[in-house]
Amino acid sequence: MPTAPRRLLAKLRDLMARDTAPLPDMVRLVAAELVSEVCSIYAMRPGDLLELVATEGLHHEAVGHTRLRVGEGIVGLVAAQGNEMNLADAQNHPAFVYRAETGEDVYASLLAVPVRRAGRTLGVVAVQNRTPRRYDAEEVEVLETVAMLIAESLATLGASDGAAEGAAATMTRHFPGSRLAPGLAVGPVVLHGNSAVPRRLLADDPVAEQARLARAVEHMQRGIDELIEAQLPAGDAPREILEAYRLVAADTGWLKRVNEAIRGGLSAEAGVQRVAGELRDRMRRFTDPYLRERMADLEDLANRLLASLDESGGKAPEPVPAGAILLARRLGPAELLDWHARGIGGVVIEEGSPGAHAVILARALGLPTLGGARGILDTAEDGNCAILDADEDQVILRPKRDLLQVYEHAIETRNARQAGYAMLRDKPSVTRDGTKVSLMLNVGLTLELAQLAKTGAEGIGLFRTEIAMLARGVIVDGPEQAAVYSRVLDAADGLPVLFRTLDLGGDKLLPGSEQLDEDNPAMGWRSLRIGLDRPVLLRRQLRALLLAAGGRPLSVMFPMVATVAEFRAAKALLMAEAARVRPVPSMLSVGTMLEVPALLWQLPELLREVDFISVGTNDLMQFLFAADRGSPALAGRYDVLSPPVLDIFANLCRLADEANVTLSVCGEAASQPLEAMTLVGLGITKLSMPATAVLPIKAMLADLDLPAFRAVLAAVRRTPGNAASLREPIAAWAREHGHSV
Ligand code: PEP
Ligand code: MG
Repeated sequence: MPTAPRRLLAKLRDLMARDTAPLPDMVRLVAAELVSEVCSIYAMRPGDLLELVATEGLHHEAVGHTRLRVGEGIVGLVAAQGNEMNLADAQNHPAFVYRAETGEDVYASLLAVPVRRAGRTLGVVAVQNRTPRRYDAEEVEVLETVAMLIAESLATLGASDGAAEGAAATMTRHFPGSRLAPGLAVGPVVLHGNSAVPRRLLADDPVAEQARLARAVEHMQRGIDELIEAQLPAGDAPREILEAYRLVAADTGWLKRVNEAIRGGLSAEAGVQRVAGELRDRMRRFTDPYLRERMADLEDLANRLLASLDESGGKAPEPVPAGAILLARRLGPAELLDWHARGIGGVVIEEGSPGAHAVILARALGLPTLGGARGILDTAEDGNCAILDADEDQVILRPKRDLLQVYEHAIETRNARQAGYAMLRDKPSVTRDGTKVSLMLNVGLTLELAQLAKTGAEGIGLFRTEIAMLARGVIVDGPEQAAVYSRVLDAADGLPVLFRTLDLGGDKLLPGSEQLDEDNPAMGWRSLRIGLDRPVLLRRQLRALLLAAGGRPLSVMFPMVATVAEFRAAKALLMAEAARVRPVPSMLSVGTMLEVPALLWQLPELLREVDFISVGTNDLMQFLFAADRGSPALAGRYDVLSPPVLDIFANLCRLADEANVTLSVCGEAASQPLEAMTLVGLGITKLSMPATAVLPIKAMLADLDLPAFRAVLAAVRRTPGNAASLREPIAAWAREHGHSV
């Protein structure tokens, strides 16, 4: 680092060591060293307001008076977006707002940087000059470092301001979010991530700091390996996820940048925080959800590295009260495992999304998980009571006693119900009159295989092979795929497993994968279409499946088949591989998913070619009704329990029966009690679903008087009128007969 910035950092360090409030001195120093006419600090105030708290160059009367909303003006925009803005002509920027009391109309150029600490925006620091110019990379870097120091001061000041929030801290607050894993939890909250702020920001001896960093990296990597081994006994490990995580840990790119930051005068801790912050800002701008979701992994690693740098050895993690609800802004997979080991009962992740590694793990571990709930981390205090109702997409902080009692009662009832379900585990799955219905699992990660034994499911009706790849972020090579599939067959121990070939594309994208710019990716170049156009990829997977079978029975199905010709082409690739692999499977069944409506008009021909069909209602419904399956605005508008869909199933059932082809349903519909009841009523006796649904559906079936229901269903379907849904009459019968729907 050149001399001027180094001198600035050294002076700032001296300033911060003094007891007096350093902000006015800081702005003076920064303005002088950066040769800027203005340096100002804005601090975040309650109500999402930014207040000018110190300035060199603007009118001093404005201090304590000038306030901007987050999102208002350039400074507000920087706080809202979390990115710096570097403008040669700030006044002509569309976001510029002029506050006369500041006298800033004479300054053309502006560089504004967010002041952040532990992922929270505490304010903004800005420098301005009269002459129009863009600030160079070095000036930006220096101001970012200054922002880290300012964050320390603002955090200290903020702590004393906190007293004003005393009254608000007892009020009940509802935070809406979105369900990432189902379930309910009630307990005290624990806040994640407050420990990651370095105490020492600057260091004199870069060589010693770099040595500390190297030692800490080694320590961190050892710790990760130990965590993985301790938490996840062999065979059960979601290796797909943790391998991806381990790779990020070993990636030298970001560590090299930390070393550079240390050379510039930062301590190892501040270097880690700085680089993690930069990467976070960059990743935030990605539109690719996969890359955005990896942000949490990186932060997880940065926190781990900071803990490893803590030469006091760090404190052993304290146990948390049983069932505590973890609140995190972001969370990485290793962090989730740490917290899980400490006994949490649920998780709220403000920036959580369905594909995030920690979320995939939370789902697999059965932890209720909510995403969103914006603002909860800024409101909650450690130990506050909360109700996490992921099923209703909300978390309630500091609930009143009566509401708490309602939820505690609901949890008790649910636990009693679960205990009742558990007794059903080893009972055969039959309706009250003795009709057998096979219930199977939808699975995507090896971690979920343990659910076979826990639920007593009769096999795996859908193994989504792409999930592991999405979790890893790459298409893994043949031998590694074979190892995963072989573990699945080992765990199934002779029970049937329907492996679905890769269903990538659409919204399931791997980073760097070949992509087309399509208007409708769900209907685009995805799934089997990619497999047929890139047969090397598909053949590699088919070979891996055959090798994994190693002489055992093997069932393979293809997703998104739209024509019989496509099915034939895919099956031909499988057969070509089967002719080369030894030992041959003792039985090879080949089937298709039914997700594309066009197949419904090719059934006689299709049924002559396939051994089985599995209906994917999620995609079938979306294509049948031209309704995006992920659009909340369309949820509930079209119904599986509608005359056209029931006609499709009745017809399919009859034709499959006649052709002696096994028919199952593996879409979402199979896991909903009323839909499952109706599918069974129409004659479908194989349903595949997430593990959580198996025992509740078994319990429903055990109480189902199938002949009586069939008669009612036939009558309801015959009733004239153009009802868009038959849900109501079906539900009325179910309620009358004691089913809770
Ligand atoms: C379906 O479409 O119903 C299905 C089971 O496949 P996925 O949800 O993986 O698209
Ligand atoms: Mg599908």
